[in-house]
Amino acid sequence: MAITKKQSTDLSGVPTKSKISRGGLAKQVFEYAPAPESIDHVKIQPRYGLFIGGRMVEPHSKKRFPTINPATESKLAEVVDADEVDVDRAVKAADKAFDSWARLSPSRRAHYLFRISRLLQERSRELAVVETMDGGKPIKESRDVDIPLSAAHFFYYAGWADKLEWAFPNRKPRPLGVAGQVIPWNFPLLMLAWKIAPALAAGNTVVLKPAETTPLSAMVFAEICMQAELPPGVVNIVTGAGKTGSLVVSHPDVKKVAFTGSTEVGKSIQRAIAGSGKRLTLELGGKAANIVFDDAPLDQAVEGIVNGIYFNQGHVCCAGSRLLVQESIAEPLLEKLKRRLSTLRLGDPLDKNTDIGAINSRAQLEKIQGLVESGIEEGAELYQPECVLPARGFWFPPSLFTNVSQSYRIAREEIFGPVLSVLTFRTPNEAVEKANNTPYGLSAGVWTDKGSRILWMAERMRAGVVWANTFNRFDPSSPFGGYKESGFGREGGVHGLLPYLQLN
Ligand code: NDP
Repeated sequence: MAITKKQSTDLSGVPTKSKISRGGLAKQVFEYAPAPESIDHVKIQPRYGLFIGGRMVEPHSKKRFPTINPATESKLAEVVDADEVDVDRAVKAADKAFDSWARLSPSRRAHYLFRISRLLQERSRELAVVETMDGGKPIKESRDVDIPLSAAHFFYYAGWADKLEWAFPNRKPRPLGVAGQVIPWNFPLLMLAWKIAPALAAGNTVVLKPAETTPLSAMVFAEICMQAELPPGVVNIVTGAGKTGSLVVSHPDVKKVAFTGSTEVGKSIQRAIAGSGKRLTLELGGKAANIVFDDAPLDQAVEGIVNGIYFNQGHVCCAGSRLLVQESIAEPLLEKLKRRLSTLRLGDPLDKNTDIGAINSRAQLEKIQGLVESGIEEGAELYQPECVLPARGFWFPPSLFTNVSQSYRIAREEIFGPVLSVLTFRTPNEAVEKANNTPYGLSAGVWTDKGSRILWMAERMRAGVVWANTFNRFDPSSPFGGYKESGFGREGGVHGLLPYLQLN
């Protein structure tokens, strides 16, 4: 078993009330020996500077903050809390590099992107460990999803760099200038790739700010830019908290802003840059419906539900956090789902057998606990499998709520944790109505045997992505983005180039 230490307090960290049932549906049969990923090959430096003008530089700001491993609460490194002068230097470096990068032959730009992609692949074991230690996600996810997909994004956009005129026929695509990019902590390297790869392929230069709790893979990426001999200033990385992010997006020489994160911060950025002429794309929160019809293959659907909400501890903007199940199959489906939950292994994220890693930060854990408490208080029934949480670090067991009304906070707000809200429906129309009854519109899932029903549902759901008989599938060639409070603009595919181009 991956879990060895017992936590002295209540298992879930939420008050034990009568409406909580703890699973005992299926006892775990197998004992797994620990299978920790080696960390010997990874060299995390004790302190990092800022990546400006093609090299790591000493900052103007004297402030630094630690980045910790959320699974152990131990300090990994110190990073800079970049100030106004640092951000200005980064933007000036990007601005200076812009002319020559934009004029470089597109096939040369493609060479650099291919090179970065190859280096990401070469350093994938190191990057997977860094991502897992800094963010808390299971190593099997960073190894099999985050890092390969990041490399694939650079590879994909390298292919577009010299084909922009074919992508937008009869138009003259031109880059915009310096792109200011702010990314969150749930997929640090992958979000970096989603932002930097299309910007560079289109001929822009960038200043990127990673999230406060997960800056380390961006620091390794800075080393990769140097290894690839990317021209100085094409990519600049400044670390810091929200203030640094706001300095990046509001800098007058930034021509394009790309943000992924919470709806609240997205709206504040939109307000801050209104009227400035900056181009903006926002990829914000979600509250996706994962809809299971009575003709769906139930075992397959259970795997899709688990992948939909417990992948990356539910720290996923497109997570299938609302399960809508057809009333006639609710009972057998929930029984199967509860049994499957009891087999999920929570513990050391570096262990290759771990399914559920650590919650990214104490603040996020408290947010999850608060919303789960609200669910219990509003009258929903909480189910958690028997699960022992490690003594140190930030943990939350896989959880599901039944008896959920659409008005409850757990059915409306983004929990961003391993917590599923289960609702039922009788007819396809009711399913559509409930699925769309949310301020968000990022993704949705449909599970049914009938192709025609999939198309009927997809047409009616206000969601940027609709997965059919699967969930959380990503490909660089496929556009991703939201409706309503989930933001606007698309990332991925040929659509992902558009926000970085002026089409004359
Ligand atoms: P934020 O939106 O605060 O953070 C996203 C990024 O924006 C981070 O790099 C953050 O810096 C930066 N930032 C914060 N404030 C500003 C600002 N005023 N101007 C510019 N940049 C800013 O998300 P949180 O980390 O606070 O998470 C809160 C909630 O947001 C989560 O619980 C979840 O519901 C949602 N979320 C959604 C994501 C998605 O993919 N849709 C991703 C992450 C969170 P810093 O890290 O230093 O705060």
